[in-house]
Amino acid sequence: MKYRWIRGMVLRFLYPALMIVGSFKKDKKEQLQMFIININNRLVRKEKLKTTKLLLLLPHCLQIDECNIRLTHNIYNCEGCGKCEISDLIQIAEENKLKLSVATGGTLARRIVKDVMPDAIIAVACETDLSSGIVDTYPLPVLCVPNERPYGPCLNTQVSLEKVKDAIRFFSGR
Ligand code: SF4
Repeated sequence: MKYRWIRGMVLRFLYPALMIVGSFKKDKKEQLQMFIININNRLVRKEKLKTTKLLLLLPHCLQIDECNIRLTHNIYNCEGCGKCEISDLIQIAEENKLKLSVATGGTLARRIVKDVMPDAIIAVACETDLSSGIVDTYPLPVLCVPNERPYGPCLNTQVSLEKVKDAIRFFSGR
């Protein structure tokens, strides 16, 4: 309870204050968002919530741009060709019996969370979407896994599958 309260204070007061700083120092904004994400993840881990009612929320940009399959309404439309990590993430979700969704933005992400009503979320996204997302979904515990962007923002992004598995292990107590 104590850590959830501290998390609330961080997201309600420290986050907006740092984003004001970030609006003046644009080159530092991502670092400041990452700072908030790291504090959030540490506090969520201290809350020690154990649940299997988990939602794994993915950004649309993990899907490789040459794939035209529509995943936003049903990620299981993926044909599992293995050209992007979507197929690995589906396998991980199936093995761990998690709800899995792709969101194209904050509005859809919020709707998915409302529909699924998970006890906790594992979110993969860029620092901007993760930091605003954890504010929107508080007090739900969210473990954030920032994506990797070797081709720049929003294009063929990647994620460490090990970090996703580690977050699942943490919540499910395995
Ligand atoms: S694994 Fe293949 S079919 Fe599935 S989303 Fe990626 S590219 Fe498309």
